[in-house]
Amino acid sequence: MAWYKNADNVVQAHGTESVWSTYYKPAETVPVSGIYRCKNCGKEVTCNSDDPFPPQNHHQHPQAGAVLWRLIVWTNTSGNQSHGTVQS
Ligand SMILES: [Zn+2]
Repeated sequence: MAWYKNADNVVQAHGTESVWSTYYKPAETVPVSGIYRCKNCGKEVTCNSDDPFPPQNHHQHPQAGAVLWRLIVWTNTSGNQSHGTVQS
């Protein structure tokens, strides 16, 4: 889990954008800037949109299971207060 100090700086998103539920493979293009967590080990990375996700050799799992990244915190790079909360 990611940590935060002050809850005023984060807000729960209620949007249904597919980016919240999609798993991304190593080296795929990052769709939105934010914090992503590996489905199989819990390791987290901070990624910028349009960059590639970390390569396959970023980390290895002691047990079987692919490295798969899913968005857990969507960075508000636009400053738009409704960012991440728009129903789609
Ligand atoms: Zn992992």
